[in-house]
Amino acid sequence: MLRKARIGDNMATKKYDANGITIEIDEDRCIDAEECVKVCPANVFEIVDGKATAPRVADCISCCACVESCPTKCIKHSACP
Ligand code: SF4
Ligand code: SF4
Repeated sequence: MLRKARIGDNMATKKYDANGITIEIDEDRCIDAEECVKVCPANVFEIVDGKATAPRVADCISCCACVESCPTKCIKHSACP
């Protein structure tokens, strides 16, 4: 069946953990808007090949600006609604 859902369909979500904080970025929905890079006061994000990554999650201060600013809502943060 072509329409059958596969567990692997959403495997483009990348997870970054440090200091009890988890940031997840759904790369399928990331459109390289760079809002996360611009608003993050701790410089957590970096665009790699047109997709957001969070290599400096250890520096995150849980301000939630990234989650709020992302136009496609593809960032999930363990401390943000
Ligand atoms: S703001 Fe959202 S869509 Fe834009 S680069 Fe960051 S994660 Fe991707
Ligand atoms: S919650 Fe704030 S400090 Fe943490 S990654 Fe998002 S914008 Fe940066």
